[in-house]
This record gives sequence, structure tokens and C-alpha cells, in this order.
Amino acid sequence: MMKFRMLGYFVFFLLICSFHCAAQDSKPNQVTITALDEGVWLHTSYYTYPNGTRFPSNGLIVKEGDSLTLIDTAWGELLTLDLLEAIHSEIKLPVSKAFVTHAHGDRAAGVDVLESKGIDVFAHPLTVQLTTEQGAAVPNNTIKELKEAGSVVKFGSLELFYPGAGHAMDNVMAWLPEKRILFGGCAVRSLQSSSVGNLVHGDIHSWLNITKQLNKQFKSAVMVVPGHGDVGGYELLSHTEKLISDHLK
Ligand SMILES: [Zn+2]
Repeated sequence: MMKFRMLGYFVFFLLICSFHCAAQDSKPNQVTITALDEGVWLHTSYYTYPNGTRFPSNGLIVKEGDSLTLIDTAWGELLTLDLLEAIHSEIKLPVSKAFVTHAHGDRAAGVDVLESKGIDVFAHPLTVQLTTEQGAAVPNNTIKELKEAGSVVKFGSLELFYPGAGHAMDNVMAWLPEKRILFGGCAVRSLQSSSVGNLVHGDIHSWLNITKQLNKQFKSAVMVVPGHGDVGGYELLSHTEKLISDHLK
């Protein structure tokens, strides 16, 4: 009798184990980290809409000495926790500061998570104002010098600049001069994008002007990172300009 009971426990244990493993295998990646260059990584988090559609969102991780700077949180608080865990296990360096490039959830939803871990989070004055008005998580540090369109501010080895309103009124971009990598965020569309996307908080006319300017200014970029979709080269800027022009026709 005892033997049968032991066998029963064993079979039950095997079943639990196989269910658990199957569940783990079928769980899609929520956050990925991809090396772009020495000391520069792309972080991509996958937001799931209520209808089940998964949508990827990009941010940047930059090595500064023995620590890391984050450009944008993951798209959600839980995904930002996953991102920090992935950084811990894959890059094995602490994140010391972060910058969020505008006041939308795909950029700033994880601000409180970062701050609860002692990471200083910085933003454009308008991002701080908008997140406050929306009742969203508010970055604790404002970079006032970014306020005017055309402003550029050093942020470690990065140059942060505010080109003016585009996809959002507060969209800031980041340039890595040594690597010639441009993080355009949501004001740059990937080649997979066939429309300008969410314009609710943006200014399409200003966006066209700033994109024309970026096209002239960043011809030397070797890599351009859009807010969503695949990283590419300079052609992402001309593609974005075309999408905006088509939208205005
Ligand atoms: Zn946005």
C-alpha cells in the first residue's frame, strides 16, 4: 500500500513538473537586451494590449565607467522590473541614472520602479509637467536646460537634445557622438511602420520641420534607433519624413 502511495506522489510530482516546464517554455520573451556596439545595448519590452496583440518598444542602455545609463523605462512597471533583472544577469553592472524621452507609458511607465531602486530619473521640464498632470509616475529630476527647441545637454557620454515638438510635445532624442548612434525614440519611425502612429499629443507640422532638420544634421549616423521596431540607419529619418509628408497630403 505504502509503495502505491509513493508511486502516486511520484507521478503527481512528474505531472506538476511537466506542466510547469511547459508553461515556462510557452511564455514569450517580455524583455530582451541586444548589443548594438561596445558598451551600448538596445532594450526591447513587449506590451500586450487587451486583445492579445504584443507590441515592442525600444530603449537604450549605455555603459559609463562601472555603471549604466538607461534611456527610457520598459513599457510598464512589471516589465521595468524584468528589464532590471535582465540587466543584472546579462550585463552585470548597476544602473545609476536614467532619462525618459517623453511623457508616454512606453517611455516613462517604469519611473517609480527605477526610483524605488535608487536610480536617478531625469526628464525634460514638459515631461515632468505632463506626467504630473496625467497622474502618472513623475521623474524626480528636471533638466531645465533642455526647455527650448534646439537645446543640447551633455548626459555622460550622451548628448540629449530637444528638437521641438513632433510625435509628442516633449520628445527628446539622444546622440552618442563616439559611436554615431542616434536614439530617435517615437519621433523616428521604423521601416516596418507605414503610418505616423499615435499623434494625439503631437504636432505634425512641427514634426515635419524637425525631421527635415534631422535629415540634414544626422547624415553621419551609423545607427538610428526608433521607438518601436527594427534599428536601422540614416534611411529611417528619410522614411519618417516621407510618412509625415504623406499624412499631410
Ligand atoms: Zn509616445
